[in-house]
Amino acid sequence: MTGPQSYTHRPYWWADSRFEPDRFSQPNMPPERADVVIVGAGYTGLSAALTLARAGRDVVVLDAERPGWGCSSRNGGLLGPSFHKLGLKGLEQAYGKNKARAIMHESLDCMRSLVSFVKEENIDCDLNMRGRFRGVAHPKHYDSLARQLETMQKELGLKTYMISKADQHKEIGSDFYHGGAVYEEDGTLQPALLLQGLLEKATDAGARIYGGQSVVDVSGPEGQLEVRTETAVVRAKNVIVATNGYTPKHLKWFSRRLIPIRSAVISTEELPESKILELSPNLRGHGDTHRLVFYYRPSPDGKRMVFGGRAGSLKEKPDQYVSHLGTAMRRIYPQLETTKVEYGWSGVVAYTFDHAPHVGMVEGVHYAIGYCGSGVGRAVYFGRKTALKVLGDPDGHTELDSLSFDSKPFYNGNPWFMPMMIRWHDFADRMGW
Ligand SMILES: Cc1cc2nc3c(=O)[nH]c(=O)nc-3n(C[C@H](O)[C@H](O)[C@H](O)COP(=O)(O)OP(=O)(O)OC[C@H]3O[C@@H](n4cnc5c(N)ncnc54)[C@H](O)[C@@H]3O)c2cc1C
Repeated sequence: MTGPQSYTHRPYWWADSRFEPDRFSQPNMPPERADVVIVGAGYTGLSAALTLARAGRDVVVLDAERPGWGCSSRNGGLLGPSFHKLGLKGLEQAYGKNKARAIMHESLDCMRSLVSFVKEENIDCDLNMRGRFRGVAHPKHYDSLARQLETMQKELGLKTYMISKADQHKEIGSDFYHGGAVYEEDGTLQPALLLQGLLEKATDAGARIYGGQSVVDVSGPEGQLEVRTETAVVRAKNVIVATNGYTPKHLKWFSRRLIPIRSAVISTEELPESKILELSPNLRGHGDTHRLVFYYRPSPDGKRMVFGGRAGSLKEKPDQYVSHLGTAMRRIYPQLETTKVEYGWSGVVAYTFDHAPHVGMVEGVHYAIGYCGSGVGRAVYFGRKTALKVLGDPDGHTELDSLSFDSKPFYNGNPWFMPMMIRWHDFADRMGW
């Protein structure tokens, strides 16, 4: 087995010669005024920028790093409905039957509208809607998953079916799971190219995007806001915060409500086509029923396996998470025992205390944030919804509008408890709980 030290510490997606995010960053300083300032140039910020610029607003997007530097160019590229972590039952208990269904329906809308968007806008991001196989990690999960999916088929029209352990090799070259489920509408894409598509469309529509502009303060009364970076001040009627897992501590109201968690990915070296077809016979995305879920998929060119999961803590070093993910990948696929890991990278996602994303406005500042690790469809969707809210368009309504966005007493944005929680979930996964 090759040690973790021999990999490139960079997202595999960035090696794609089509990915050129610097091309979209303005070379000069931001202007003194704009109609709308957006903080964060990921899927959320850029989707909002595109909608606003097309509606004729003068839009400035500020990112602390280069545009798209955050999760939006680092993720696993798995696209699914990102159902609320509480599930239909948990949502019913929390919000009642009708609201629960409406929230679940909106999860499907996030995915479906992203697929339509990519097709309508002709975005070259290797979108592949072949579905996802979700492996059952413990025998006793099988029946409960089957029951859950039956309800979702009936109530939401979700296209899905179960696969028994005996038939599992039709979906995955592994004996690790105890059967699983196919989600027919899910897909995969090249995440950095989706980001680039958004950069291109937003810029073409007239939005101006500035890299290297770290926002240090947003202040002022509603309608006359002032956004300060280390080197510039931009005044605007509206501001949208779209910083998700990278939300800085000084944006206190937000950081008190978000739990940053490191998610990491590795990519193998190139493998023969026959090997990839053995690992993933239908070239679908893959996930499982673990609490600390593993997500993986063949690369768009069908030559590598790209494998992701949670890091042990926010502070975990690349060698640690690369080694941990390599071990997990080889547990699922023992046939990769001698396969080299060529890339390893990570990013920071944002969880919330109620497991839901949040969209709204506080002290005149709009936000869309907290995708709980599943943001490819959600971020583009809620970014657009937030822009529609800024425009006063009733289509800006989302089922999340009425959820209250709460913190916990004494929580200041430092997730000191997460390493313990992750160890607990890891233990529960091993026990099959
Ligand atoms: C390793 C990994 C794998 C993932 N895999 C999947 C997956 O397979 N499927 C899925 O659905 N989701 C996945 N996700 C989650 C998904 O990528 C995110 O939910 C989504 O990209 C969030 O988009 P965003 O625009 O809100 O935030 P981001 O893309 O993170 O953008 C936030 C931006 O804000 C900027 N910023 C922060 N602070 C400031 C400041 N003070 N001033 C200016 N700019 C600032 C940052 O530089 C950053 O560019 C994954 C995430 C990671 C990290």
